[in-house]
Amino acid sequence: MDTSSRKPNIIVAMFTMKCPSCRQTHVFINKSIFPLSEMVMLKDECEVCGQKMKSERNNGGGINYALTMILFFLNLCWYWPIFGLSYKDNSVYYYLFASTAIVLLAQPYLMRLARMMYLYLYVGFGNTRRVEVPSERSAGGDE
Ligand SMILES: [Zn+2]
Repeated sequence: MDTSSRKPNIIVAMFTMKCPSCRQTHVFINKSIFPLSEMVMLKDECEVCGQKMKSERNNGGGINYALTMILFFLNLCWYWPIFGLSYKDNSVYYYLFASTAIVLLAQPYLMRLARMMYLYLYVGFGNTRRVEVPSERSAGGDE
């Protein structure tokens, strides 16, 4: 069995914004999040495997919301042991402030990650669905 074409780890591929099908190419037009206006713009399709990227209808919003909530929770996990949270002082507000700042800073990444998750939900590894109409029509010259 030749398994030289081992597939990259799905988690790694997802967090590094790789194509969900071949996991080799970056799916966003700009690797950097700048300019922000083009931050979440996906390529039309993967250069390597031809997987369509644009098919998703911007449904990353719900996932993005979930990720944001998760991040708030994760912040709690490190903030609580380090700084402590108490009802008796303003520590809850400090936490909310710190957490919000982190979430805002992470927002571009979260938005991209949400899109990635959405893509990965729909496209499996090596599951390229080339929406390519076979040459039925073009070759349909009547004899
Ligand atoms: Zn690909």
